Amino acid sequence: MTLFQLCERPLCHERIGWANGILIDVGKARLLFDPTQGGALRKDLDIFVTHAHSDHTYGFSTGAKKYSTKETLQIYQALRDREVKNNHTVKVGETIRIKEAEISVLNAGHMLGSCQYEVVGPEFTAIYTGDINCVDTLTTQAAEVRSCDYLIMEATYGHPAYVFPRRSTMYADIVSWTMSEIKDGKIPTFQVYSSGKPQEVIRLFNVYTKIPVVCSPTIARASRVHTENGVRLEYVDSSAPDGRRMLKTGACVYVTTNSDHAPRNASRAVATGWAIRQAFRKFTSFPLSSHADHDQLVEYVRKVNPKKVYVFTGYSDMLAREIERKLGMRAGPLPVIAQTKLVDFDETFT
Ligand SMILES: [Zn+2]
Repeated sequence: MTLFQLCERPLCHERIGWANGILIDVGKARLLFDPTQGGALRKDLDIFVTHAHSDHTYGFSTGAKKYSTKETLQIYQALRDREVKNNHTVKVGETIRIKEAEISVLNAGHMLGSCQYEVVGPEFTAIYTGDINCVDTLTTQAAEVRSCDYLIMEATYGHPAYVFPRRSTMYADIVSWTMSEIKDGKIPTFQVYSSGKPQEVIRLFNVYTKIPVVCSPTIARASRVHTENGVRLEYVDSSAPDGRRMLKTGACVYVTTNSDHAPRNASRAVATGWAIRQAFRKFTSFPLSSHADHDQLVEYVRKVNPKKVYVFTGYSDMLAREIERKLGMRAGPLPVIAQTKLVDFDETFT
């Protein structure tokens, strides 16, 4: 009997679906993962945040009871200077119980503090991946793989064209380009978002070169959380006197969220998985991503070996077709339980 056959019974207590976030309902436990809206939510919901990127952290701005890793909470608070109330920190490897559900925290390999959540109920097991990366990087370890009945996963780079080069090759390419630009009197300037990728780029220069790294104040705040949690990073904040001087004199790398503020002699670069298929005008691009590529996503599903895969975001249709074709597994979009916020649909829920 499948989960959804169970749900079609008059008294359904277990189901998975989309309700402005990933909803997993186990008996009286109502678990909502990475909600896509903040504000008021039903009080009987337990909210889970997978990582600190802004499209996954709306849950922090709700009044409901929330769960995240300590690192995710710290990065969120460092970037927004805002205290989060009613949040309970969990650790990778830990299992908590909420009513009939057991929730385990698994490493996601996407950025510091990122995690997947495994939900075990009386009738089924499910894993929600959030964003995952399936290879080791200089700052993260590859996502953990565990088998389950229902896998709910991101499909950001689910298109078969997105196959990334080996990490060591990309690191070498970045270092080589940087050296050459510095030799030409330029300041290599990487435009990235504030957490995750920039810290990998900083660490890359720390490990493989002696080139000093200057970063913008936002990235410096997120980097401080990394160093406090054991990721060794050496960098200078561009708003500090040393940082300002180095950007004037050159012979450094600049890592920033906004290259408009880069020095005049900047030579601009981006590091993103989209660089596989997309050209970036006036930027040199490197396909360094903190997400799994197409082949890694398919391999991850093969190892998890679920009864059904639910895919969402990015190239979800294409990835679902590839999973069915290559692995012979059922794959498709999440059933929609509600399009509105969970505060609005008490009657339809039960
Ligand atoms: Zn992310």
